[in-house]
Amino acid sequence: MLNKVVIANRGEIALRILRACHSLGIKTVAVHSTADRSLKHVGMADESVCIGPAPSVDSYLNIPRIIAAAEITDADAIHPGYGFLSERADFAEQVEESGFVFIGPTANVIRMMGDKVEAIRAMKDAGVPCVPGSGGPLGTDPAANVKIAREIGYPVIIKASGGGGGRGMRVVRTEAHLANAVTMTKAEAKAAFGNEQVYMEKFLENPRHVEIQVMADGQGNAIHLGERDCSMQRRHQKVVEEAPAPGITPEERARIGKVCTDACVRIGYRGAGTFEFLYEGGKFYFIEMNTRIQVEHPVTEMITGIDLVREQLLIAGGEKLSIRQEDVVIKGHAIECRINAEDPDTFMPSPGTVKRFEAPGGPGVRVDTHLYDGYRIPPNYDSMIGKLIVHGPDRETAIARMRIALLETVIEGVKCNVPLQQRIMADKGFQAGGQNIHYLEKRMAEQKEAAAGTQ
Ligand code: ADP
Repeated sequence: MLNKVVIANRGEIALRILRACHSLGIKTVAVHSTADRSLKHVGMADESVCIGPAPSVDSYLNIPRIIAAAEITDADAIHPGYGFLSERADFAEQVEESGFVFIGPTANVIRMMGDKVEAIRAMKDAGVPCVPGSGGPLGTDPAANVKIAREIGYPVIIKASGGGGGRGMRVVRTEAHLANAVTMTKAEAKAAFGNEQVYMEKFLENPRHVEIQVMADGQGNAIHLGERDCSMQRRHQKVVEEAPAPGITPEERARIGKVCTDACVRIGYRGAGTFEFLYEGGKFYFIEMNTRIQVEHPVTEMITGIDLVREQLLIAGGEKLSIRQEDVVIKGHAIECRINAEDPDTFMPSPGTVKRFEAPGGPGVRVDTHLYDGYRIPPNYDSMIGKLIVHGPDRETAIARMRIALLETVIEGVKCNVPLQQRIMADKGFQAGGQNIHYLEKRMAEQKEAAAGTQ
């Protein structure tokens, strides 16, 4: 069992990790920037260490300072949360080389999954269904690339092997545009990710985003905890997530879940992870694996009753997975709305002081946030300030509960996206369920047009 954990993150996920640690009797060390002294979890942690000024590169991304904080507090493990250093193989490596436990998979597995060409190759070998594609990096010979694209069939998408965050991708619909698209994506990838390797995939026109949550102990045991539907996206950023995914049958879940757990055992996966798939025409197509806890993990916790962060901590402490696949029972439906401090129409970030905050409540309502009255949201970080999660016996009840919860939520002093979330929950298409990844942007454009027409 771990004794003391450094939480190398901020905001709601830092608080989430702190709660899981304390519930297991594990001591916590909060590391924070100078802009984050007043974060809620900093005041609750057993110890706290200021690791640098506000810019992330000087604090939350500063590996030596985070490791030094673990050394001076005599901690035994580091939890990276999501974002920041969570998927940096060099960080995991340095943490372990310094004698601490990295709460996540091994550096080698993180490195493999961070290189998408390699990740897809490994997944294919493990029997995971992938998008038809080049199967490897594209060379510089235009004729060879034309041949690959013809075999796949247009439209195709050129993607950066080292890409992330929805960047470094280009859709190509006709042969005339192919060579130029490859050159441009390569140049962009080199500038943005320091790696010019690109690959090609069939571009799926109207997929849904459906992902499988897994948990493995690195000792030969792995389970899946069902799927989440994260198709409500804006600019490739998830806005609403839910579990289970509408329309996925227990048989489909069991089949794709088994494929993922088998892959985990094969690659020696350890900890929490997510297999992201595009889902179209009743088929799953693997696009990438996230080797960390995800923002949307609470919807899975709500339908399974399993505390994923607690499991991460137990596994990192060397324990074997205590949950068997047959113990995972999916109950009801859960929805998460991400709450961002931003203008609900223009999406401009809106940092500042929260004058008043009132959280919703009632049956099946969970609020994961670090907000409190008087908290000042710094301008330096992501605009997500919390997550509203509801659970109900069925999807309809969950939506109804979310609508009430959003109405009850009071955030004064900064702008937030609660009005957008209310529109989504009231939307007939969302209520019907199973929309694709373009639905939200399409609806927003229609509503904007309608509003302009009435002026
Ligand atoms: P990132 O790591 O940047 O998030 P992903 O490979 O996960 O990259 O892709 C991000 C998003 O881009 C997907 O959620 C999807 O919306 C779109 N996308 C990626 N590959 C394809 C594809 N082959 N067909 C259609 N859309 C795709």
